[in-house]
Amino acid sequence: MEILKNISLKNYNTFGIDVKANNFVEVNEYNDLEKLYEDGLLNNILVIGGGSNMLLTSDLDRLVLKLNIKGKSILEKDSNIVIVESFAGEDWPDFVLWTIDNGLFGLENLSKIPGNVGTSPIQNIGAYGVEIKDKFYKLEAFELATGKIKTFYKDDCGFGYRESIFKSVEKGKFIIVKVFFELHRSGDLNIEYGAIETELRKRSIERPTPKDVSNCVIAIRASKLPDPVEIGNSGSFFKNPVINSEQFRLISKKYLDIPFYKLAEDRMKIPAGWLIEKAGWKGKRVGDAGVHDKQALVLVNYGNSSGSEVLDLANNIINDIKNKFEISLEIEVNII
Ligand SMILES: Cc1cc2nc3c(=O)[nH]c(=O)nc-3n(C[C@H](O)[C@H](O)[C@H](O)COP(=O)(O)OP(=O)(O)OC[C@H]3O[C@@H](n4cnc5c(N)ncnc54)[C@H](O)[C@@H]3O)c2cc1C
Repeated sequence: MEILKNISLKNYNTFGIDVKANNFVEVNEYNDLEKLYEDGLLNNILVIGGGSNMLLTSDLDRLVLKLNIKGKSILEKDSNIVIVESFAGEDWPDFVLWTIDNGLFGLENLSKIPGNVGTSPIQNIGAYGVEIKDKFYKLEAFELATGKIKTFYKDDCGFGYRESIFKSVEKGKFIIVKVFFELHRSGDLNIEYGAIETELRKRSIERPTPKDVSNCVIAIRASKLPDPVEIGNSGSFFKNPVINSEQFRLISKKYLDIPFYKLAEDRMKIPAGWLIEKAGWKGKRVGDAGVHDKQALVLVNYGNSSGSEVLDLANNIINDIKNKFEISLEIEVNII
């Protein structure tokens, strides 16, 4: 393990933002973490997994720790419920395919979400009607203040829509090292959400397997979301706002076509992408920062944008949406 100086992080974040880390280290084994702790180097750090949910806005005068610890296994083999464990540095899309190849049900709708397994609980990643909290069993995290491993079960994690305690009250206090999931050998597939059913019909699949659903999700995602390899981005930049029924009544009087998803009697989720598009931002470009021309929820870096330029654009969008719809958009991506 070697601590490197003045390293560009351009290739370590999917936005492709070129900032420098004064100190940078790749952690490949759990023992490396203990060593760094013993040397007193974990007091002020930034952990990077796949770098697909962060906007870097300035050079970093702290230790940047790229977490690569790998390894995964199936712990319980006999019953229908199967516990699977994975170290944090495993690639999430590969991990999902590995569970499917092992005949397990549960993670297929979460196929192809970029990033690492260790980061998946932090914002309770979700797609196509499933969130990892639905399949989560527990995690083990290295406490930076004590150097000890702490276990968090599902109820300890405060999971919500793109939220957990690791993104709020416990932010920056732990490095998630291992995650355990509760999957099944058989069960129902969740195909009602989004275009999965249509895609299955297109492929003449009547009795889908998890692999079929995964293939459909991968195809739908590829048709909708820009690939960070081609154009820098962090997926959805904003959360979908949740409003109450009175707010919804007022807005829907003005905008008859407003889409919504009813969460509860008094809570409606509105697609942030629709608001941004309706406000005229889709495809707008300011320098090398822009709003994607096919998916307004995604902000992009056309090449040499700085993180602050993307953030300025985001703040202008937030202000405009507030003025036009009286809705406060919240940023989903971690601003660093
Ligand atoms: C094209 C695209 C599509 C996406 N689609 C979705 C989607 O459908 N649903 C969804 O929920 N998200 C989506 N995302 C967001 C992203 O994939 C997820 O948030 C993912 O979990 C981020 O993982 P990462 O390892 O890349 O995180 P990073 O960007 O590396 O880190 C994110 C934050 O977590 C911290 N961190 C990272 N690893 C650890 C650790 N082990 N312990 C403690 N802190 C840590 C970092 O310091 C940072 O603050 C998308 C992103 C892209 C680029």
